Amino acid sequence: MATTKRDYYDILGVDRSASADDIKKAYRKLALKYHPDRNAGDKQAEEHFKEISEAYEALSDAQKRQAYDQFGHAGMGQGSFQEGGFGPGGAAGFGFEDLFGNIFEDFFGGRGQRRGRRPQTFRGVAGDDLKLRVKVSFKDAALGKTIQLNVPKEMSCEQCHGSGAKAGTQPITCPECEGAGEVRYQQGFFSIARTCPKCQGQGKVIGSPCQTCHGSGHVRQTKKLEINIPAGIDHGQSLRVTGEGHAGYQGGSPGDLYVLVQVEDHPFFQREGEQVMCEIPITFVQAALGTEIEVPTLYERVNMSIPAGTQSGKIFRLRGKGFPRLHGYGNGDQLVKVIVEVPMHLNASQKKLLEEYAKITGDKVNPMRQGFLDQMKKLFGA
Ligand SMILES: [Zn+2]
Ligand SMILES: [Zn+2]
Repeated sequence: MATTKRDYYDILGVDRSASADDIKKAYRKLALKYHPDRNAGDKQAEEHFKEISEAYEALSDAQKRQAYDQFGHAGMGQGSFQEGGFGPGGAAGFGFEDLFGNIFEDFFGGRGQRRGRRPQTFRGVAGDDLKLRVKVSFKDAALGKTIQLNVPKEMSCEQCHGSGAKAGTQPITCPECEGAGEVRYQQGFFSIARTCPKCQGQGKVIGSPCQTCHGSGHVRQTKKLEINIPAGIDHGQSLRVTGEGHAGYQGGSPGDLYVLVQVEDHPFFQREGEQVMCEIPITFVQAALGTEIEVPTLYERVNMSIPAGTQSGKIFRLRGKGFPRLHGYGNGDQLVKVIVEVPMHLNASQKKLLEEYAKITGDKVNPMRQGFLDQMKKLFGA
């Protein structure tokens, strides 16, 4: 471990003569960029973040910095880094508050007392969630698809790193509420607190605003995102993409993006839960004699045999040809409803043959007709 360690100054990209302030600035910039909150699942960013945090931990402490300058990594000792609550386990248990607390302190003049419109996190004000509707085809909903989205949203201004303050300046304590984020006024016997109108509860106002974002800390931009539409998603379900909502304020975490999925109708298929329904017309001859028909499914065409004597409305089940189960295994089924079509126009020879058929059949009735006749007799008498 010790042999591959990079130089702390190199990690933070600062000179060996850098002031404490420069080190802090460099760290803040890098830490915001590589923080695991913003790089979910990115192992490299996580490693980088650890490295940055470790370097800052050492160089921000005058004593440790001196030891490092003199002895390099050897001067750091084994356990020194553990003090900050930074276990060897990795990113999961980061004390983000510990690491960032003192840095953002000067943004807010003490934390915990402010109450704003938006939920506040330990490092600023969280960004708003963003909702977006997305249309997907019936088939894409069944098979799943990765789609490209252009997401218009508030992003942190790169010029001022979201502070809203002009380069080289910092937000100042709000003169109205003296940093509390709320003001109290008297109404009758009551003292009522409300969000400070000057700073909107942030406790800080911008002295000289950043020219790019005019002090808001945000710029409106369109971000390209790849969204994975899972196979089996249904109309009206939404997907949550953590951290892809609007940027937070003053270092606050971003909101989430909710993608509301709207599944387009299909001209042939309907959906019912995990089942796919369809109707297929067959001729009365096919129904009487039996046949094999080709049935389209979401996946491929399959052959389905229709037994002789099939009645109109009979439903056949094609196992596993329905929608994948979102939270389970396997697929639903496809239900094929067979509609027997009686010919509307008969030519002379067809008519003759059918009359011939009727003569041969005579008074013989089929079971369904027999059942009907029996029922009538019971209800209404002979
Ligand atoms: Zn204020
Ligand atoms: Zn700006």
